[in-house]
Amino acid sequence: MRFEHEGLAQRVLFGSGEAAQAVAAETERLDARRVMVIAGKGERELAESVTAGLPVAVRHDEVVMHVPVEVAERARSVAAAHDVDAIVCVGGGSTTGLAKAVALTAGVPIVAVPTTYAGSEATNVWGLTEGAKKTTGVDARVLPRAIVYDASLMLGLPVAMSVASGLNALAHCVDSMWAPRADPIDRALAAEGIRALRIGLPQVVAAPRGLEGREYALYGAYLAAVAFASAGSGLHHKICHVLGGRFDLPHAQTHAVVLPYVLAFNVPNAPEAERRIAVAFDARTAVEGLRQLRTELDAPTALRDYGLSEADIPDAVEAILPAVPADNPTPVDSHNLARLLHAAWEGADPR
Ligand code: NAD
Repeated sequence: MRFEHEGLAQRVLFGSGEAAQAVAAETERLDARRVMVIAGKGERELAESVTAGLPVAVRHDEVVMHVPVEVAERARSVAAAHDVDAIVCVGGGSTTGLAKAVALTAGVPIVAVPTTYAGSEATNVWGLTEGAKKTTGVDARVLPRAIVYDASLMLGLPVAMSVASGLNALAHCVDSMWAPRADPIDRALAAEGIRALRIGLPQVVAAPRGLEGREYALYGAYLAAVAFASAGSGLHHKICHVLGGRFDLPHAQTHAVVLPYVLAFNVPNAPEAERRIAVAFDARTAVEGLRQLRTELDAPTALRDYGLSEADIPDAVEAILPAVPADNPTPVDSHNLARLLHAAWEGADPR
């Protein structure tokens, strides 16, 4: 065994009902005096409960999925006008994404309080969308200095969104088994992430306001994001990245739909990953484990339900192909990729 692994330096505080104290302590550690609070309108109350005691210079609530450049520019102007020295973001991946866009140019530290399972808080990846093109990049300045995980903030995340977002986290784990920089540490984190999500998500569906399932799912989502940050984007993420940016499909639901197709596509040529995923699911095979979980969760099944039209598929194939990692376990060509996308579009049985 031989590998190089780089862990990202950030503090992680996990405790249900403790977000307000933890955020206060973390901003204090940063010696922040002029905090910009970023939270979308839907998360306003959550954000107020978490940031009530902070030296807030400005609250900003214009949050848009996939961070359109003009939305980022407006937030950057607000940050500059108020001379902020730290950002506290409370919300899902879109909110964290906007905080990252500001941090990228302003160089101020972020304390992230995630309220979905998207995992952006644990990566140094930023994303911006201009027109129909989503650009991503890696920059140390966008990695939140601290993450405050408080599962009690997620009790109101609707079940359907919880399921989609949880499967987005699961996709980080699965793709981390074969992504370009995947190493044994990533695979170990990913396997534990799958196990935690497999335990947590059915509990979230059965009892959305129960803390235990939320905690398991959130813990799994963190592991998933750490694995993904190190392993990089595999085939699954390359596909979803194009679908999200080019066709404006919703992020979490797109991941939730595409995952079983990529898994079924790759496992015949990735026996070790197949075994690990199956074990993590406590199932006979990886594909069966995912199918069982998706059935329990009543997961989203078809891209056509989320805005992709059949006529978009050739265009999507053309945009995805150049981005496919060269060492993907199953060699990808325009024919098998079109087949995969078509199956995901109509919600056919993944095989
Ligand atoms: P989102 O942030 O857009 O949130 C989805 C919906 O859930 C929104 O309507 C939001 O208001 C609502 N919501 C969030 N938290 C809630 C709560 N606790 N209770 C009730 N409602 C709540 O979606 P997302 O899937 O979390 O994030 C998607 C975005 O994150 C995409 O743009 C994606 O590219 C990005 N992302 C980036 C990275 C990265 O590493 N850079 C990783 C994952 C995702």
